[in-house]
Amino acid sequence: MSTSETVDIALGPCPCSQGKLFKYVTSQDNPWSSVQISYGTDCQRCSNEWSFSSYGTMTNNASEQSYKEAYEAELEISTRLLAIVDDLVDAHFADYATKPATVELREMHRLGIAKLNIEHLRKARRAGRKPSETVSALNNLDWLYTVARRAGREPEFIGLRKAYEDARAETKRRSEKIVRRSIA
Ligand SMILES: [Zn+2]
Repeated sequence: MSTSETVDIALGPCPCSQGKLFKYVTSQDNPWSSVQISYGTDCQRCSNEWSFSSYGTMTNNASEQSYKEAYEAELEISTRLLAIVDDLVDAHFADYATKPATVELREMHRLGIAKLNIEHLRKARRAGRKPSETVSALNNLDWLYTVARRAGREPEFIGLRKAYEDARAETKRRSEKIVRRSIA
């Protein structure tokens, strides 16, 4: 049976200064195991409010949670934006399904949204993949606005684009507000 020993090294006050921050150094009683280092606090409040990494940083949970929520919201909007983009692309290329792959690829190149070569496009078509899966439609936003207008979905598309930009900005803003401290 192996045994280990942990040494607690007090480093200074915790953020609320009711307790202390500690470095914990655990060593096994054999020569081949390296020591393990972790960090923590003896303060109940701060151990609830902060997360400690093993490399000497602590992160405020509430500030990180706020960022995670913004990121989730961004993903949600991005999913909705991509769904409308897929609809628009598939509607545009519906007429090309019966045409040779070379014709479809020429149209993708004309729009600057092609991402497959002819061989891969043929393979994708045989596998029943939709045009939306074989292009990078966001490479040509002007075109997307045009097809959205033709489909009567321009306000929806513009709204989602705006919501997406706002959500991204909010995620960035909150990521910059994550409170991290160096412990050691
Ligand atoms: Zn504290």
